[in-house]
Amino acid sequence: MEIVKSKLLSKYKNIVHGISTRGDKFESTLQNNLSYSVNDDPEIVSENRKMFYLKLRVKSLEIASLKQIHSSNIISVEKEGEYYNFDALVTSNKNLFLQISIADCVPIIIYDSINNIVAAVHSGWKGTLNEITFKTVKFICQKFNSKPSGLIAFIGPAASVCCYEVDKEVWKNFNLKHSTKINSKSEKRFLDLKKVNRDQLIKSGLLLKNIEISKYCTICNKKFHSYRRDAKNSGRMMALIGMN
Ligand SMILES: [Zn+2]
Repeated sequence: MEIVKSKLLSKYKNIVHGISTRGDKFESTLQNNLSYSVNDDPEIVSENRKMFYLKLRVKSLEIASLKQIHSSNIISVEKEGEYYNFDALVTSNKNLFLQISIADCVPIIIYDSINNIVAAVHSGWKGTLNEITFKTVKFICQKFNSKPSGLIAFIGPAASVCCYEVDKEVWKNFNLKHSTKINSKSEKRFLDLKKVNRDQLIKSGLLLKNIEISKYCTICNKKFHSYRRDAKNSGRMMALIGMN
């Protein structure tokens, strides 16, 4: 299983981070699936997760994860467990690893290198529209006295503007500069959720040089799981960040 890493975050030796991939064997849409909530054998999922954690060299298995609901609800956590009805996790604890589940939605992982805070955000179009990324930065700054200029963010592989067609009901909620025309006949447009999230990071005070955007599109690159592409047969990937 290949792991997608951020160049910016890789500079910090105390940071453990990565986003899993489906891999390059395309025999099954569930290859390297890390979610128990899809139609996959729990034993295989468990093995896949073990491999993911091993590859990341997660030392302890103190994992905080979410039951995600496409909200803009953010929670600060101090111990492992599954937290219901949130879409962003924040912690100042070492050896507590934040994990979110994705297949097209935008994962954003954030590190405050000055105060040692990490965050993981799940931002689909609804969460993006509700400014979950902007709100997460505000949350970190209020709770931990962080300065946005000290934050580093990685926007991971996600449904991208090359493929992510949305209906007018969706794109009309976003600034037109964040979507592009498909053709003159179609009412649909391609929506650029990565850029909307990047602009939320900038609006909240992050420096452009501290924001990295993955080039990968989960829909057209089969190396990734995509709900849009594989629908109910799709597996899920994990984005993880924590501090040793
Ligand atoms: Zn694409």
